Amino acid sequence: MYIKRSWAEPYKMKMVELLKMTTPKQRKKAMEAAGYNTFLLRSEDVYIDLLTDSGTSAMSDHQWAGMMLGDEAYAGSRNFYHLEEIVKKTYGYQYLIPTHQGRGAENILSKILIKEGDIIPGNMYFTTTRLHQELVGGKFEDIIIDEAHDPENEHPFKGNVDLNKLERLIHKHGPEKIPYVSIATSVNMAGGQPISMENLTALRALTNKYSIRIIHDMTRVAENAYFIQQREKAYKNKTIAQIVLEICKLTDGATMSAKKDALVNIGGFLAINDWEVFEEARNLVVVYEGLHTYGGLAGRDMEAMAIGIRESVQDNHIKARIGQVEYLGQQMQFFNIPIVKPIGGHGIFVNASKFLPHIPQTNFPAQTLAAEIYLDSGVRTMERGIVSAGRKPSGENYLPKLELLRFTIPRRVYTQAHMDVIAESAARVYEHRKKIKGMTMVYEPKYLRFFQARFDRLNS
Ligand SMILES: *Cc1c(COP(=O)(O)O)cnc(C)c1O
Repeated sequence: MYIKRSWAEPYKMKMVELLKMTTPKQRKKAMEAAGYNTFLLRSEDVYIDLLTDSGTSAMSDHQWAGMMLGDEAYAGSRNFYHLEEIVKKTYGYQYLIPTHQGRGAENILSKILIKEGDIIPGNMYFTTTRLHQELVGGKFEDIIIDEAHDPENEHPFKGNVDLNKLERLIHKHGPEKIPYVSIATSVNMAGGQPISMENLTALRALTNKYSIRIIHDMTRVAENAYFIQQREKAYKNKTIAQIVLEICKLTDGATMSAKKDALVNIGGFLAINDWEVFEEARNLVVVYEGLHTYGGLAGRDMEAMAIGIRESVQDNHIKARIGQVEYLGQQMQFFNIPIVKPIGGHGIFVNASKFLPHIPQTNFPAQTLAAEIYLDSGVRTMERGIVSAGRKPSGENYLPKLELLRFTIPRRVYTQAHMDVIAESAARVYEHRKKIKGMTMVYEPKYLRFFQARFDRLNS
């Protein structure tokens, strides 16, 4: 008999956090108070929190021990030098600017590299990244392959760049109008889909031809490396650490939200190989974040980040991390719930337009589904559709092709039994899907509206 070898977590529990179990009546009250926006729920009222994988990881005993080694000097903290050393060794980038989180790095980088009227091509937008590009007068252009916009398409590297789309943009605007190409590894908005080493290498050759930089949104680079190891033959016997380094070497600099891959609750950085950009960034960080040796972080935060980065590129860690996401995806498919395929790195993305085909996009199918799942089980998810996409600078709504509900899995936090509860809740809502009606938006903030918008249910 062939007995398969299951993956399991390469850690055990030493402390637990007790959760509040709510009743349907309590959840109804909480959802109404939150204006049907899961971002506005109190986390106390949430049972399993899949809002985001950002800042929600469980730190290791080593990271907690590192917190006690915080050197809280205003300038020149030893934790900064430790972090700098680890970043250089793990990712290969020359110069480091710590920031309070990813968007702090995006703000500084956009201010330095983008001029009014510039074009920034990227493999699908990310909310904060694109907003910072637009705030300094740049225009984002999507150059991801068409397959990425089709939730059914099973292309193994849906994060790839369509090089023809990029070359057309270069010819149309001229290379001097393109300060850099913005490349995300494990593309968040496409469902945590990877870019291949082959594609990144070809992109490097093309951008070299026109002397255009590649800036890497490396928030989930280790998860991307896992898919390269699994799906690109030449990388089968390479370690995650080797692949991560190779990815970074193909790019000129990076912005990082350490709240994801790097297993910390707060932190980020800008890393760059170009001395002149670094000098300017080191100056600007003082204006927006803090001195260049802490960038809005405590010494202890930098220490936890340095240790987290080291743990994040361990093969066993990534295998269990993505194994858990895949397990949830398989359970969802068992219940016939339409999900984005292939299963991505940091969560399961349910195709809300297929789940609720009778609700028009302007009545927010994914936002509606988030509310229904919470009411059913206290599981909190996040909309990634028309609400997240927001409005164009002209005021019109962006109408994204993908109308998704994200079940994001925090790292090292939940068990396999939790995954079962989540899939069962989605299945229960799926059973009565035809009775579900959409919503209207009753309050819309100006920037990144998905965080604070409020909704009302139709005919209820
Ligand atoms: C989270 C995230 C960011 C922004 O980082 P913050 O730490 O939340 O400011 C940027 N890019 C991607 C792909 C992200 O997932």
